[in-house]
Amino acid sequence: MSQRPIYLDAHATTPMDQRVLEVMLPYFTESFGNPATNTHVYGWEASAAVKKAREVIAGIINATPEEIVFTSGATEANNLGIKGVAEAYFNQGKHIITVVTEHRAVLDPCAYLETLGFEVTYLPVQSDGLLDLQKLEAAIREDTILVSVMAANNEIGVLQPLAKIGEICHSHGVLFHSDAAQAIAKIPLDVAAMNIDLMSLTAHKIYGPKGIGALYVRRRNPRVQLASQIQGGGQERGRRSGTLYPPQIVGFAKALEIGVESMDTESERILQLKKQLWSMFKPLEGIHLNGNFDNSLHNNLNISIEGVNGSALLLGIQSTVAVSSGSACSSESTAPSHVLTALGRSEKLAHASLRFGIGRFNTPEEIKIAGETAIATINSLRQASQFKTKS
Ligand SMILES: *Cc1c(COP(=O)(O)O)cnc(C)c1O
Repeated sequence: MSQRPIYLDAHATTPMDQRVLEVMLPYFTESFGNPATNTHVYGWEASAAVKKAREVIAGIINATPEEIVFTSGATEANNLGIKGVAEAYFNQGKHIITVVTEHRAVLDPCAYLETLGFEVTYLPVQSDGLLDLQKLEAAIREDTILVSVMAANNEIGVLQPLAKIGEICHSHGVLFHSDAAQAIAKIPLDVAAMNIDLMSLTAHKIYGPKGIGALYVRRRNPRVQLASQIQGGGQERGRRSGTLYPPQIVGFAKALEIGVESMDTESERILQLKKQLWSMFKPLEGIHLNGNFDNSLHNNLNISIEGVNGSALLLGIQSTVAVSSGSACSSESTAPSHVLTALGRSEKLAHASLRFGIGRFNTPEEIKIAGETAIATINSLRQASQFKTKS
């Protein structure tokens, strides 16, 4: 019983793939140079490794290497993209459009910009989490400079129609930013075909290292202006100063490469696991699927459960299964998830929810145990609370 719980929290982070670790290791020790140094071989080696990684990452999203700015992750990429555009374009307008179900790393920079005099429209979503494109188009104004809509939601997995959003934004001459932290290497992302102008990425949700990510910044049609948010040595063409971190960058590229190579087979395999899990919960009374089963990440299953207390549920399963619930940030937090309440869920049902994030290393046997554990806990909590089923 000293076994560690089954990890089903892939939206929070993922374990690093051994193949990623292996390509990173030499850059901590022998090839430790500073990529900005051009006077000796140590710098050249590091610089060559970064150059190659940058090409790989750019190629995967159909961008050019100059369009990739390395950051510490998607939080920083979102901050740089949103605040960097706001600061560069405020002469043209101070209106930004985003969506209520975005990650805090988008909502909070937007809220910060409001304190500086920007105006932000937070679009609602439909009950399945999808954005209404007519509402988006109607919200665009003369002074709108940026639309920020995530590719895949980190709680409910819902996939927003990026290509259509990009088309709408470009037809109105508005820049389009997308937080693709959850979507990259899960669905095909093509910044050219989807008219994406800025896109945030992170490595640790795709079996790469923590502390590294990137912002894609379009250089042609249109050339996006960006005000740097960290000034210093002028790295990343002045867009993000600070010594680059070659082991992380090399690992990020490797993680992305593996993720994209195995995307088709893994999507299918993980979708089967999601179906297996859902088929266990579905027959129960009072279970609500949060999101849109078909139009969502294959590795996400989010359910709300009637007749149970959210923290009691989590407490009941956490020694066997590691998952997240619908309480924001930490289990101590009393705020229900802003994503689930945006779908119209009551605070109680938002709290009484489980988010399963299925990953590369999960097996059908683990899914079975996870489902059985959750269901046994649900049943015993319902018995205690005398939850009445309809039958
Ligand atoms: C995880 C996540 C982030 C934050 O990424 P970090 O690299 O951890 O900073 C931002 N947006 C979404 C949608 C995420 O899932």
